[in-house]
Amino acid sequence: MHQNKAQKERVAVVGAGIVGLAHAWSAAERGHSVTLFERSPIASGASIRNFGMVWVIGQKDEAQPLALMARERWLRVANQAGVWILPCGSIHLAHREDEWQVLQEFYESHRSSERSKWLELLSREQVMQRTPAANPNGLLGGLWSSTECCIDPTSAVRAIPPWLHSHYAVDVRYSTAVVHVEPGQLRTADGNRHSFDRIVICSGDDLATLKPEVYRDQTIRRCKLHMMRTISQPDGWRIGPHLASGLTLRHYPNFQHCPTLTKLSERIAHETPELNRFGIHVMASQNHLGQVVLGDSHQYDDEIEPFDEAEVDQLILRELHKILTLPTWEMQSHWHGIYAKYTGDIAFEREPEPGVHVCTGIGGNGMTLSLGIAERAWKRWEGATE
Ligand SMILES: Cc1cc2nc3c(=O)[nH]c(=O)nc-3n(C[C@H](O)[C@H](O)[C@H](O)COP(=O)(O)OP(=O)(O)OC[C@H]3O[C@@H](n4cnc5c(N)ncnc54)[C@H](O)[C@@H]3O)c2cc1C
Repeated sequence: MHQNKAQKERVAVVGAGIVGLAHAWSAAERGHSVTLFERSPIASGASIRNFGMVWVIGQKDEAQPLALMARERWLRVANQAGVWILPCGSIHLAHREDEWQVLQEFYESHRSSERSKWLELLSREQVMQRTPAANPNGLLGGLWSSTECCIDPTSAVRAIPPWLHSHYAVDVRYSTAVVHVEPGQLRTADGNRHSFDRIVICSGDDLATLKPEVYRDQTIRRCKLHMMRTISQPDGWRIGPHLASGLTLRHYPNFQHCPTLTKLSERIAHETPELNRFGIHVMASQNHLGQVVLGDSHQYDDEIEPFDEAEVDQLILRELHKILTLPTWEMQSHWHGIYAKYTGDIAFEREPEPGVHVCTGIGGNGMTLSLGIAERAWKRWEGATE
């Protein structure tokens, strides 16, 4: 694909999850002619099943610029495509001494960094002023971060393709599975061959159909998460920021340098080993319909069953009740989502053949980072074609 920079390419993107949409948008913005293939009649993978948290706080320091760039792009696409977005911020709640200690350590360690301007340690009373949802029983304080945004993943991921079509003439082909890719062309399930200059495979957790050999011997795993959502909360009640419990501190890598984290993790493993068995930590967000989205758990590869065990949901709810009070806990739906997680980097990005790219493996950060990861890739490819 050694074209000069001004030359426009015919680009195929496989998969209309957030990673595919991010690539389609970055390509279309550069004036390339883009075709987006999605095998389902409508996107229904991980990208519509999540909390809708643009979770900048959870990213490691080195991924912060990427996360902030992705956040800016979310605000832009939401504005242009008419997608609901709320820059709501987040609070990590501390209901135990070791949780409070970790939050203070995290805050102190960022005092002189760029991050400090977005962070604030909140007393118990300050937490209660910012959210009516924090359970006051045993609440010690919280860590506020202003960088998080909330989107409704289902409506957002389904609204972006028609906007890409109307705004950039992206050719969106639903119900069209891609069954074979090679340099310069792909084949769809109806047997038709289509020629492209560049093909970007964003097939989410399907590691078996296209280029399965690139995943061999790689640290990429599938992960299943349980989720649930309340009915709309009454009387326009709003949660305020996203909320996360102390259990979350052991899940995201950004807290790993905090000295008290080991003690906290040991305490949880000792007191509540069942939470580790199902990889449970708990968080809450609220969408534009007033529904509170709650989760989650983590089961990997061989642990993944098609059935959703009630025990997992019960444990998630048990932990949520410790940190939250909601006007209603009546559930509207329960579901699970599956993503691919690569542990070698923030994403699994490869070019197995010239002009054929694979991008997946972003794990629990796809809604936060994809718009940045795709833009970074297109900048790189643009540079390579100069
Ligand atoms: C329960 C849950 C909660 C999460 N919460 C958050 C959160 O709050 N914040 C955050 O940042 N991240 C979150 N994540 C992570 C995020 O949702 C994922 O990282 C992201 O959605 C992955 O996007 P994707 O495009 O790779 O995959 P998907 O959304 O699964 O999309 C892949 C698409 O490719 C299509 N496809 C596959 N193969 C083919 C083929 N051969 N031909 C045509 N189409 C094909 C599939 O049909 C699918 O639509 C969460 C994930 C889950 C599951």
